[in-house]
Amino acid sequence: MSESIFTKIIKREIPANFVYEDDDVVALEDINPVAPVHILIIPKKPIPTLNDASDDDENLMGKMILTAKKIALEKGIAEDGYRLVFNCNEGAGQTVFHIHCHLLGGRYFNWPPG
Ligand code: AMP
Repeated sequence: MSESIFTKIIKREIPANFVYEDDDVVALEDINPVAPVHILIIPKKPIPTLNDASDDDENLMGKMILTAKKIALEKGIAEDGYRLVFNCNEGAGQTVFHIHCHLLGGRYFNWPPG
């Protein structure tokens, strides 16, 4: 399978606005934000979709969510509220097939989503 755009970003072959990086995950500003705060938390391991995550990825998936929480605190949106989104496959709107978590905040979000 060819490399995803996120792998190219992680390898610094394509520029992006990084807000966090460690050995396992990166976080960067979404290029097409749908909220005042729109950060993508992306594992360095190129798992295509949530369906492809295995029990071995349990710690990594937890780390993604806790990284999102830390960034929400840093961005000052934790108190008002924020939303985490994993789109899985085309039917849910996934366009980049390298698993990622959207951190969305800075505005009100309707529930249920459209
Ligand atoms: P999804 O639709 O859940 O697969 O989300 C993919 C997200 O990646 C979208 O919100 C895009 O705006 C975002 N995106 C695509 N290319 C880039 C890029 N080069 N830098 C930052 N975000 C990107």
